[in-house]
Amino acid sequence: MLKGYHRLITERALSTRLGPRPLKIVIAANLHQDHLLTGQIGHPEFHFDDNAFAASAAYMETQREQARWALQKNRPSLAWQAFGRLVHAAQDFYAHSNYVSLWLARFPADALPPAETIEPCDDAVLTSPALRSGRVYYFLEIASLLPLSRAWALRRLPPDSHARMNLDSPERGPLFAYAVEAAVKRTVLEYERVLDGLSAAQARLFEGLGQSSGSAPDSSND
Ligand SMILES: [Zn+2]
Repeated sequence: MLKGYHRLITERALSTRLGPRPLKIVIAANLHQDHLLTGQIGHPEFHFDDNAFAASAAYMETQREQARWALQKNRPSLAWQAFGRLVHAAQDFYAHSNYVSLWLARFPADALPPAETIEPCDDAVLTSPALRSGRVYYFLEIASLLPLSRAWALRRLPPDSHARMNLDSPERGPLFAYAVEAAVKRTVLEYERVLDGLSAAQARLFEGLGQSSGSAPDSSND
């Protein structure tokens, strides 16, 4: 998903749940996952690319555990950073897999429900053998982004490629709106999962509602 949409989705999901400073840190960590050198190459698990479903789920679990550990150790900045990485993967799942198509396949094509009714964790879709995510064919993918080689590369990119499957922006058509709505709901769910079973004081630390976006760093020196 393009950076602007990661930001928008995270703000829609969390602006009433996190204070301005935590939200800023969560968004920065989220967007950093798309850094060309440290986040894009060799890390399909950050983005649910290449059918790396098990590795991506394990990566999300690690970030969830890091966030919970950090809150227990009174280090909220580390928790917000881990949570930002976690929700990046969660949001990319809907843009890089065929989850939206599979979820919509149960409805008649001329009577699709509104985008905001999409279920983000539909068991039948999550366990479907037809669930796929786009493969990144690096050379052709990059060539498809350059004006001179774009048409040449697009003709050669196979149907299972990230370039053909993604719902990264509105230009990809009407399914993009479903990916956005599912990602907003999933981000809220992931927020609730991090806090599940933590104390009220740890939850307040994570929410950071008393902190403005310009507050000094917390005492943990994260
Ligand atoms: Zn990504």
